[in-house]
Amino acid sequence: MKPLRFVRLAALAAIALPLARLVDAQNTPPLPVVAFVDVNVIPMDRERVLEGQTVIVRDGRIASIEPSARARIPSGAVRVDGRGKYLMPGLAEMHAHIPGAQAPEQVIRDIFTLYVANGVTTIRGMLGAPNQLTLRAKTASGEMLGPTIYVGAPSLNGNSASDPATAARLVREHKAAGYDFLKLHPGIPRTSYDSIVAAARAVGITYAGHISQAVGLEHTLASRQSTIDHLDGYLEAAVPEAVRMRVMADQANLGEMVNAVDASRFAALAADTRKAGTWNVPTAFLWESFFSPEAPEDMAKRAEMKYAQPQWITGWSNQKRNRIQQDQMNGVSAEVSARYLSLRRTLLKTLADSGAKLLMGTDSPQMFNVPGFALHHEIELMQEAGLTPYQVLESGTRNVAEYAANDLKLDGQFGTVAVGNRADLILLEANPLTDVRNVARRAGVMVRGRWLPSAELDRLLAEMAARNSGAPRG
Ligand SMILES: [Zn+2]
Repeated sequence: MKPLRFVRLAALAAIALPLARLVDAQNTPPLPVVAFVDVNVIPMDRERVLEGQTVIVRDGRIASIEPSARARIPSGAVRVDGRGKYLMPGLAEMHAHIPGAQAPEQVIRDIFTLYVANGVTTIRGMLGAPNQLTLRAKTASGEMLGPTIYVGAPSLNGNSASDPATAARLVREHKAAGYDFLKLHPGIPRTSYDSIVAAARAVGITYAGHISQAVGLEHTLASRQSTIDHLDGYLEAAVPEAVRMRVMADQANLGEMVNAVDASRFAALAADTRKAGTWNVPTAFLWESFFSPEAPEDMAKRAEMKYAQPQWITGWSNQKRNRIQQDQMNGVSAEVSARYLSLRRTLLKTLADSGAKLLMGTDSPQMFNVPGFALHHEIELMQEAGLTPYQVLESGTRNVAEYAANDLKLDGQFGTVAVGNRADLILLEANPLTDVRNVARRAGVMVRGRWLPSAELDRLLAEMAARNSGAPRG
């Protein structure tokens, strides 16, 4: 029975695709009603599983969730057999990079497909360009297959925002251009930072990203920056003042800082973070890639690399080689790197257990981070750091909706399986609350009500791998 059902769903999806291409953004065809029949629901409103439910999706939203015995399935609905499977909210990559207008459209389509194929239904683009505002509209309307996109503005950094007046002018321009938030890079002088904060509050836009040395963790929290990315600023805040001054003056190397960290300070910093309401986007997997002892040749052989653009792999390999060389030159030993990564894991666990808020993110497609696949590595690392599966999943689902509503001031009706919410869903073969790695075992993904069974997603991935293997390797 089961293989037949699969063929039918794949055939339906194959018909839906060419139809979608015939119509324009304002006029996408209505999606069929979908019924997930007799499925275990992981609603993510709190830690629990609702067994034997039938979930109906209509017009891109969850229309009903009822015990299967009671549920009436509308005639003509696409029926998805949920027996033995688990339905959870789609995930989010909260530190993504979307290529600018110079990137071929196929590359952008492939990146979006990689996200959807990995259950990622929301992304936050961390370096804005005007083309991304168009992409945001195209995935929202269904014209383009892809996640819901939050678009950060072009970078505010030590160069672009070198003085307070320029910084304030850029904030007003970025808000007027329609960006969803401001992206902060390192090197911002404190006077410019304060000017950004004041201007952002005046026009109603939030600010997120790195912590500049001249600003520091304490002032960032006091200024209600909405996210801190990469756990920036925490280790600097956990060393004695004398070492911190040397770090700020670029006189201390990583080893000196790492060896001076007092991890018993983490609990107080986490409590301050919770009080401030600032979110952390850890990007643990990127730091592992930066500081792991792996050889770039081995990293380039990972299974998901067949979905990466060949020129990315060349660039990533060079980047890793350069880092190894630089670490050797700067006296950053394997022991220092290992201790650094271990401190970051302890910090992550302390933040989570203190109730400081986390958002899932990896910084794709930075070094060996294949969009979507990287998030599953991140999930595994979070579990290894000691977070419970529920804590991990929360950071990629319900927390994201809370961030969207409270900080971005956008639609926060997603991130839980609840009636009325946007139908961004993942159907899994096994329970992710018992082992969070099960979140990679997808039977299908629904994005804004459009159902893509595994067979369809695997076909899209296979096409991508074939395209990439045909391209010349640099
Ligand atoms: Zn980034």
